[in-house]
Amino acid sequence: MNLINQTNNIDFINQDYIERLLESNREVSEDKVREIIRKAELLQGLSHEEAAALIQVNEGQLLKEIYAAAGRIKQKIYGNRVVMFAPLYISNYCVNNCTYCGYKNSNNFERRKLNKKEIESEVKYLEAMGHKRIALELGEDPKNTPIEYVLEAIETIYNTKSEKGAIRRVNVNLAATSSEDYRLLKEANIGTYILFQETYHRHTYQKVHANSLKGEFNFHLNAFDRAMDAGIDDVGGGVLFGLYDFRFEVLGLILHNEHLEERFNVGFHTVSVPRLKKAEGMSLEHFDYLITDDDFKKIVSVLRLTLPFTGIILSTRESPEIREEVINYGISQISSGSQTGVGGYSEHNDKKSVPQFEGSDNRSPMDVIRSLLKQGFLPSYCTACYRSNRTGDRFMRLAKSGQIANVCQPNALMTLMEFLLDYGDAELIDLGKKTIFDAVAKIERKDIREITLRSLERIQNGDRDLYL
Ligand code: SAM
Repeated sequence: MNLINQTNNIDFINQDYIERLLESNREVSEDKVREIIRKAELLQGLSHEEAAALIQVNEGQLLKEIYAAAGRIKQKIYGNRVVMFAPLYISNYCVNNCTYCGYKNSNNFERRKLNKKEIESEVKYLEAMGHKRIALELGEDPKNTPIEYVLEAIETIYNTKSEKGAIRRVNVNLAATSSEDYRLLKEANIGTYILFQETYHRHTYQKVHANSLKGEFNFHLNAFDRAMDAGIDDVGGGVLFGLYDFRFEVLGLILHNEHLEERFNVGFHTVSVPRLKKAEGMSLEHFDYLITDDDFKKIVSVLRLTLPFTGIILSTRESPEIREEVINYGISQISSGSQTGVGGYSEHNDKKSVPQFEGSDNRSPMDVIRSLLKQGFLPSYCTACYRSNRTGDRFMRLAKSGQIANVCQPNALMTLMEFLLDYGDAELIDLGKKTIFDAVAKIERKDIREITLRSLERIQNGDRDLYL
């Protein structure tokens, strides 16, 4: 692998520049903050200077106005929809020693990678929970889990179908790799290529990834450039909040997004906002930048105002209460029923594998759906855009045109109906149908309303996998 050619193009993250941005936007007036909020409500996004001002707001009333605006933007673009997914961990072999991670090499436990049969078994468990979209997860170990292993796993997942279920979209969270590997992943039909920068602060990055293959900051930072040059057009960024100052990190994410927009005409398809959690072999006390719930709400809201059309993903690292609150401020995708240990879905409680970190929402997917419905949200199992080639800038153009709701809303309703009939109990079916038909009645375009009603009828008569 030619490291020289693969590590250029990192000037978009300049530490001095981010620090100056934060300094010069530290004490902007209330009037200016309100002007920025009004601009965000036009759904054209914000500049990084404007985001720098919002992320430093601490005054209670202004914060409430930021949350409320984020809620309105979320409503306008996503309505009540929340896309559902689950992670699938296939290997905990790892050559890295990331200080924060339960899979770090210095943790002494028996490592494991799933074989084809075991992957099939895990997929069947996920399908039995109703999942259609997964995020494939593994540690980094070129010897034990080379790209061929990952490609085979993806093929196995797509080919494993149950009576009622199939995984229709495999997003992949794989360590930064070569252009050639990205080409192979593209050929394997992955959904989004996800990679968390962990931290945009170079010194912190090097400190937490000492003695690690992952320690090469530049190679990690321009991984999306290589992935997109290789033809992957949906990429998902993220920061592990708790490693460094969250204000710096949010600007890092936004500048990274601007860089991708400039180079590829499309920025992040999604961003993830994981918060550092307790894990095997690490203690949270050793991390100086842990964030509070209020910081977390501000992060989600400012990202929603700045990147209105980028999906924001939340995992079961967060508690049910926080999850349900921040959905209101801009989260558009959540996981449910997650296991973060290898083989975690198939194994029984007496023999638990080491999790990568501890989760905080242990409810079953069914309970999560019930709770979402009761609060008026619309859980969606839709994977249609990716299967209709609405990816990359094609997706963004449609989203920005305002027409996306005419596609997403019917698809969400159809996939929810499928889920209810295939997996729900009588109470859930009643609750879900009410949500579905109330939402159909609110679809403004008559033709779309009628197509949706006809499709719902067909699903109730046994058809499956319908989408626009
Ligand atoms: N090995 C790949 C890589 O290096 O990018 C995949 C990453 S791992 C399976 C998924 C993510 O979990 C990491 O990128 C990290 O942000 C997050 N993670 C690791 N330890 C964590 C912890 N203690 N708490 C919360 N999230 C953690």
